[in-house]
Amino acid sequence: MANYDLVVIGTGPGGYVCAIRAAQLGMKVAVVEKNATLGGTCLNVGCMPSKALLHASELFEEAGHSFAKMGIKVPAPEIDLPAMMNFKQQGIDGNVKGVEFLMKKNKIDVLQGKGKILGTGKVQVTGNDGTAQTVETKNIVIATGSDIARLKGIEIDEKRIVSSTGALSLDKIPSSLLVVGAGVIGLELGSVWRRLGAKVTVVEFLDRILPGMDLEIAKQFQRILEKQGFAFKLGAKVTGVDTSGATLAATIEPAAGGAAEKIEADVVLVAIGRVPYTDGLGLQEAGVVLDNRGRVQIDHHFATSVPGVYAIGDVVAGPMLAHKAEDEGVAVAEILAGQAGHVNYDVIPGVVYTTPEVASVGKTEDELKQAGVAYTVGKFPFTANGRSKVNQTTDGFVKILADAKTDRVLGAHIIGREAGELIHEAAVLMEFGGSAEDLARTCHAHPTRSEAVKEAALAVGKRAIHM
Ligand SMILES: Cc1cc2nc3c(=O)[nH]c(=O)nc-3n(C[C@H](O)[C@H](O)[C@H](O)COP(=O)(O)OP(=O)(O)OC[C@H]3O[C@@H](n4cnc5c(N)ncnc54)[C@H](O)[C@@H]3O)c2cc1C
Repeated sequence: MANYDLVVIGTGPGGYVCAIRAAQLGMKVAVVEKNATLGGTCLNVGCMPSKALLHASELFEEAGHSFAKMGIKVPAPEIDLPAMMNFKQQGIDGNVKGVEFLMKKNKIDVLQGKGKILGTGKVQVTGNDGTAQTVETKNIVIATGSDIARLKGIEIDEKRIVSSTGALSLDKIPSSLLVVGAGVIGLELGSVWRRLGAKVTVVEFLDRILPGMDLEIAKQFQRILEKQGFAFKLGAKVTGVDTSGATLAATIEPAAGGAAEKIEADVVLVAIGRVPYTDGLGLQEAGVVLDNRGRVQIDHHFATSVPGVYAIGDVVAGPMLAHKAEDEGVAVAEILAGQAGHVNYDVIPGVVYTTPEVASVGKTEDELKQAGVAYTVGKFPFTANGRSKVNQTTDGFVKILADAKTDRVLGAHIIGREAGELIHEAAVLMEFGGSAEDLARTCHAHPTRSEAVKEAALAVGKRAIHM
């Protein structure tokens, strides 16, 4: 029976990063993975494949719509969907191989099979062929991630009614796509297929898109998406999908009640969120307590109710984001090594990788109002940013929220090209407890889009230069 310091169940960004950090700290580590490939949701059916398709479809749209005005003459671009899917797969393969390499480099054993916790210090691994082995370990980290959330009465076949997984692998471009849920995943994948030619309608239960993100940004984002061709039905719910005809017929009802209507679509994408995944882990028998939403319950040190068993990533509370899972993986490994591992949940950026991008870190205005915190707002539009003007990519703005008394930056929200990169200026500043003035007094290279971040920080003190 193999003996380890740490066995990590699941090799998504939470699990494999935790394993690497633990190995760096001198532990003997194994990871358990039930899938044929390492990397979890993120690398195989999440972050990475979606970004490959977003990139390819964005360039297709640019070639068709933006090249001519820059004086670049090309024939109308055409889609070769199998080649685009191959491009996506090459990206997945490259990243998955990268994780395999990192496991070898850090001398981490990869145990292929389904992990089950038999209690403190014991994990059973059952391979695809049914053979089971039990490994002993000082510590166990549960990093089993999440699975798609399903809508009652609507069966996902991953062909016509798809989850994000099916939407990443459609074999032809649907002429119409109905997206259920106006969250990040629905809007990103909706963008991919709209750019490739689908007519996209998004149905959202709430009366706004991107729940949880800054409302002003979300409203502007909705207007931009509508200009791009998205149709939205907010405050509405899909209650059924009739699959009997050549096209699907979805029944939509107002969330507040009222007359139903039908919307026809070639493909329906159910993107209403994700749920923690703990199937077959043996948690109940082992005595690991779950919270009322099925997530593994942990304390501030990621410890579950069973000694020596910890949990991180999508399977525990908090934003279901790869970088949050990674940081928790690092923190728990450091805690196990006797260090002060820690995650600052106040500074976890969130990005929507559409065009324009939407990015956010820290508190929204609504959250500050609810908490009764007095704050100052500094805003700066990309229409007043020189670099954005010459590139003719002026959609969006930067918004910085600072404490009214101390000027400490409490939140930053950006809609615009490269917002997902720009947001890290604010993240680093906030991690150091910096003020809007600190940011405003930092010299920014010209001409960059980052100057809009500096100007927004200046605007907090009512002294933006270019506005
Ligand atoms: C379409 C899509 C796009 C996304 N885009 C982004 C993005 O751009 N940025 C971002 O931050 N996040 C994104 N996410 C979310 C991100 O993928 C997750 O937050 C992240 O993967 C969570 O990491 P994790 O390590 O907790 O779990 P996962 O990545 O879900 O990995 C869990 C792993 O555990 C394995 N496993 C489960 N149970 C067992 C068991 N009993 N035994 C052995 N192995 C087991 C699974 O097979 C899986 O490999 C996206 C998600 C989707 C679906």
